[in-house]
Amino acid sequence: MLQPMATTDRGRPSKRMCAGCGQRTEREALVRLVVGDHPPFVAVDLGRRLAGRGVSVHVARNCIRAALRRGALARALRGRGDVEPEAIEKMLVEQLERRVAGLAAAAQRARSVEVGTEAVRDALRAGRGQLLILAHDSRGRGDELARAATARGCATATWGTKASLGAPFARSELGVLLLTDRGIARAVFDCLSQIEALSEDG
Ligand SMILES: [Zn+2]
Repeated sequence: MLQPMATTDRGRPSKRMCAGCGQRTEREALVRLVVGDHPPFVAVDLGRRLAGRGVSVHVARNCIRAALRRGALARALRGRGDVEPEAIEKMLVEQLERRVAGLAAAAQRARSVEVGTEAVRDALRAGRGQLLILAHDSRGRGDELARAATARGCATATWGTKASLGAPFARSELGVLLLTDRGIARAVFDCLSQIEALSEDG
């Protein structure tokens, strides 16, 4: 479950069309898929750096599926074998999770993350919270911290397990962490929103 972050005005957004649903959207809401000449034919270009013919789609299962059925992506893939939407979604989730781990490491280097209940509670009280992340299997103080975060306008998200949350911090388990840098928090939040959108039914 994700509690939204306040949106900031980023100036004039550059818009692009989703190859799935056809809507024109801010570029940040879309992911680029690149069609390659050799298997596996479609690569997810999260960093928008890969050469080759690409299309942009919403990070959503419906749009990925629709793009494979019709439009520029379907045309580019014609006659080159089947590409399963599940394979693209899996690649995308893996890349997004890797990016979250990288951002967690960056937050650690920048000392802009608090870990564990006590440190998180103190930072929330001091108004330093930007994004509170609770492990799915966290117990105890999670609800209390989430309420405190929401009351102070800090976004909240539930992600991973205590084991996976602890890994980047060399802990066997970690139930809660708080990102205190707005830019890093925003980037992590966007990744988590996209991962959540890909796991929704439909
Ligand atoms: Zn779309």
